[in-house]
Amino acid sequence: MEAQVKYKFFLENLDCAGCAGKIESDLSDEEFVTLAALNFASKQLVIKSSRPMLEEDVRLKVDLIVKKYEKDVTVLTHKASKNKSAASVSKEARVELLAKISLGLGSLLFVIGLVSSYALHWGTGVEIGLFIMAYLLIGSEVLVSAARNILRGSWFDEQFLMTIATFSAWGIGEYPEAVAVMLFYRVGELFEAYAVNKSRRTIEGLMDIKENTTHLVDEFLQVIDVDTDFVKVGSLILVRPGERIPLDGVIEEGQSNLDVSALTGESVPVEAQIGDSVFSGAINQNSVLKIRTTADFENSMVGKILDLIENAGGRKAETEKFITKFAKYYTPVVVFTAVAMATVAPFFTGMNFGEWFYRASIFLVVSCPCALVISVPLGYFGGIGKASKYGILVKGGNYLEALTRIDTVLLDKTGTITEGKFSVATVKLSEGVSEAAFFEVAMGLEILSNHPIAKSVVKYGAGKGMQAKAVLNYEEMAGKGVSGLFEGDQVYAGSEKLLADLKMNIPKIDEHGSVVFVIRKTQLLGYLVVTDAVKASSVEAIKRLKALGIKEVIMLTGDKKAVGEQVAKIVGVDQVYTELLPHEKVAKIEEARLKAKGVVFVGDGLNDAPALALADVGVAMGGMGADLSIEAADVVLMNDDLMKLSEAIHIAKGTQRIIVQNIVFALSVKAVVLMLGAIGIATMWEAVFADVGVALLAIMNSMRNNA
Ligand code: ADP
Ligand code: MG
Repeated sequence: MEAQVKYKFFLENLDCAGCAGKIESDLSDEEFVTLAALNFASKQLVIKSSRPMLEEDVRLKVDLIVKKYEKDVTVLTHKASKNKSAASVSKEARVELLAKISLGLGSLLFVIGLVSSYALHWGTGVEIGLFIMAYLLIGSEVLVSAARNILRGSWFDEQFLMTIATFSAWGIGEYPEAVAVMLFYRVGELFEAYAVNKSRRTIEGLMDIKENTTHLVDEFLQVIDVDTDFVKVGSLILVRPGERIPLDGVIEEGQSNLDVSALTGESVPVEAQIGDSVFSGAINQNSVLKIRTTADFENSMVGKILDLIENAGGRKAETEKFITKFAKYYTPVVVFTAVAMATVAPFFTGMNFGEWFYRASIFLVVSCPCALVISVPLGYFGGIGKASKYGILVKGGNYLEALTRIDTVLLDKTGTITEGKFSVATVKLSEGVSEAAFFEVAMGLEILSNHPIAKSVVKYGAGKGMQAKAVLNYEEMAGKGVSGLFEGDQVYAGSEKLLADLKMNIPKIDEHGSVVFVIRKTQLLGYLVVTDAVKASSVEAIKRLKALGIKEVIMLTGDKKAVGEQVAKIVGVDQVYTELLPHEKVAKIEEARLKAKGVVFVGDGLNDAPALALADVGVAMGGMGADLSIEAADVVLMNDDLMKLSEAIHIAKGTQRIIVQNIVFALSVKAVVLMLGAIGIATMWEAVFADVGVALLAIMNSMRNNA
């Protein structure tokens, strides 16, 4: 894969969800961009490019596109956004306060005007005066920005529509209504902004797992605070109790309990001591730890998680794409109908122009698809955020959507259903072969492999004081074993399949477990039997999948028949296929896809990447999974627990339900108001409700998922 450069920006004042979508798709079309993900909720824009450029150049290019849709947005580099000046923050607060005061004052005048017209009767002149003042106080912001947008050539934004609509109310002498509509709109907007902000903060809270400063221990054992982004691999760092571990590493000094709930959703703390690997994002609970870092920030757990979440917005669900497309046609059609109603209809019906103009304005108010455009992406983002709270990373709304359609689950055995931590049960040496001679070769080969079986062999040998010897030309034969050159002889370690390939006799072994044969040239040096325990939660996890309506759970394994079938029986899968080579696992997935509505594959190994990519949703185990499989996966289960898969499906279904509710609700309210408006029953009030009220309810509904 080509090297990718990542640029991160913050879009200050981004308030229009519709524009966000357009900005994102325009950016994606730029030839230097390989991925553009604009997160409306966090206002963060991530751009990936295969071409290294000056950050400022990229910023300018982005700015050019952003300004096409949202003039008030400032594109800030990631750094600049963090150092936002206190002055600009206080200015924002002042503007907001002023807006609230004028809204309050306007409302007061409006009420006085109403009291006069219904009770005290100070005279029409006084009342009109009060209403005009109230209207200006409440609506000046809307009027000004409508005028500004027209001058810039962007018609038909919400402000413009509100202006036209309320003008038409003035035109037909409905003064209180003009004010009320504007007031209703502004209050709705205010709540909407509040709701959006609130869900933004919830989501930002979830992403708040980065420790910006690291206490670096330098060569004089002085502790200095540095920016986490700049700490190099192999540095010694200090983490005090109560602090979050900033970078992945290995403990060199101290022992402590770690709270890993931000990573896995599990609240039980884990113990860690000297020599243990620790992940960034965990909170150190009891005592000071000195850690030797094994990754820089980008490659640390937290860096990877944030990268996944930031890119999630770039992968749109079908529902989301549908809404964007729908919005593109909906607005022009409604606006066109409105124009026709105002100009043509009066001639045919003989009613006066004022009445038709009023009806047309109702159409205009309802023509904004805001509710959908805001609530649908917010809904998916809420779902992704909720999942991440449980230690489930979902790489995009599209996968959340796909999870709701799953009816077949294929599971890898080793590391997915079983612990993936083998232990050696027996060693059997061939006649005349010494233990030392056996382990020199076995460990020499397996020390170079990442397979869980290999790790158990090395650990066992080392425990018996055996030594590995150098093996050259090391190669892996996926699904069979490994080979290399030892003192000029070809050596192998692997399964029965390997023996068959070498045309050697296969000894009959009754003992239960996976077997590793160790071979030098054509001589069998001996074999090891290794066993792996089924994870405690696997049985329950498979039951839950069934309860969620999964039709078929299938286990795939490269392990031998006896072992595979025994595990299958323990956990209760519907079908099991054993002794599969990696490409045969892929073929099984292809087969399943032909019959199923949607297929999930869960795996962890290096050679699982093609299978993960092929399935509709590829799920990887995050804790023990190989980097390559985590990269290829669409969903990552951080604590390696299969139980989280049903959790993920459950969250996906909940999210989709909320989104569908919002779409159905918004569209039907709009349709009803349009109809009533056309025949002259609906008032401007209902129209404004169909606009802001519906948007507000939809947003609040989306937020429900995140609570
Ligand atoms: P699975 O993940 O389904 O258990 P793999 O494709 O990873 O299967 O491996 C299949 C089989 O190949 C293992 O059960 C083992 O017998 C053999 N094998 C693979 N790698 C090694 C290795 N490094 N050392 C010994 N045997 C191996
Ligand atoms: Mg495997």
